[in-house]
Amino acid sequence: MKQSERLGVNQQGHLTIGGCDTVELAAQYGTPLYVMDEDGIRAACRSYRDSIERYYDGRGMVCYASKAFCCKEICRIMDQEQMGLDVVSEGELYTALQAGFPAERICFHGNNKTDHELRYALETGVGLIIVDNEYELVRLNRMAEQMEKTVNIAFRIKPGVDAHTHDFVRTGQIDSKFGVALENGEAMQIIRQALTMKHVVLKGVHCHIGSQIFELEPFELAAQRMIELMAQVKEETGHVIEQLDLGGGFGICYTEEDQALRYDSYMEKVSEVVKDCCHRLGFPQPFVMLEPGRSIVGPSGITLYTAGSIKEIPNIRTYAAVDGGMTDNPRYALYQSVYEAVVANKAAQPKEMTVTLAGKCCESGDLLGEKMLVQKMESGDIVAVLSTGAYNYSMASNYNRICRPAVVMVHDGASRVIVRRESLEDLTRNDL
Ligand SMILES: *Cc1c(COP(=O)(O)O)cnc(C)c1O
Repeated sequence: MKQSERLGVNQQGHLTIGGCDTVELAAQYGTPLYVMDEDGIRAACRSYRDSIERYYDGRGMVCYASKAFCCKEICRIMDQEQMGLDVVSEGELYTALQAGFPAERICFHGNNKTDHELRYALETGVGLIIVDNEYELVRLNRMAEQMEKTVNIAFRIKPGVDAHTHDFVRTGQIDSKFGVALENGEAMQIIRQALTMKHVVLKGVHCHIGSQIFELEPFELAAQRMIELMAQVKEETGHVIEQLDLGGGFGICYTEEDQALRYDSYMEKVSEVVKDCCHRLGFPQPFVMLEPGRSIVGPSGITLYTAGSIKEIPNIRTYAAVDGGMTDNPRYALYQSVYEAVVANKAAQPKEMTVTLAGKCCESGDLLGEKMLVQKMESGDIVAVLSTGAYNYSMASNYNRICRPAVVMVHDGASRVIVRRESLEDLTRNDL
């Protein structure tokens, strides 16, 4: 179980997280249940922050991409950890502000922000708006003018580096719904346009080349292209873009096979590229921003289920059904994401059974994994799916009118609910 160093097995042979017995958590709070390890989350924040200190002399900021897991408590923790926060919608912004997160450390992303969202961001004093396209730029400038404000912006750039899979292609990225392209001059053009506008201040350029990336090279290449752009802007317009936002996308270990980069080694290598490029092009070293989401919360979360019907189809497979599924974790259904599972009440036993872990929704594709090696599973067992801290709760739905599970935070042997389990009343709240 290398996903989280904070998982363990106690004397009863039960899986533990953050010093809590998962079987007891399941009994106390019911299943399905998301459990997040607070120390793991905080340690990830610190590891990123420390490397900003070490490799960029403290001239940078780590912004947590809140879409990975967004609720008030995580925003409070990010504030305590002196992180910035990325939001991509009115709802995420609202959540952050409700949690008391300082607006000036919030960055607003998105490829199609509505007028309503832009106005909300201006009214609440969001620190930076990452502008995706010309349509947005023009509306934002006009709106800021009407509100007699100026707003800090960065542009979302497609650096021409595609790293969506383990394979990367240098030009593929032009086919993306996000941002403006570098290679056809689109980026330069929108930058020039922004420099003529009175109510936007061009602070930065931003790129985000994909997610769950394990290689270093695409990050290095993206950093290089971005600094070349910044130097070109300085040369052609005289304007110095101060901030370079390198996005998120750092891969995490979902199974034993995944080899995640240590953030530190990523930071060291990319910082060398940043420094070398700046030196070569005579450009001042920018303020560097990073936006990890998955790698902050993913490894620190698990989901607990209760096993129900177990169907052995001879010579084909064994379906083990749990009391959740694609409603709390749609990632296998969406893109066959591989997870590791453990029978929490038998965690000390060897894994000797291969199952297809199925959910309870009315969809054949409602699976949490196939060919999963687990301890001998029986109905009534507690099943833990590991590394579910990112893009699980935040992607959950009410399909089949299933209530979203509660989220419990554990720390030092104690647990607390940070998101209540949805109730049947919640389900019909908006029905007329
Ligand atoms: C999704 C996203 C992130 C976070 O990506 P992770 O893979 O979760 O680290 C950061 N920045 C932007 C713009 C994103 O869209």
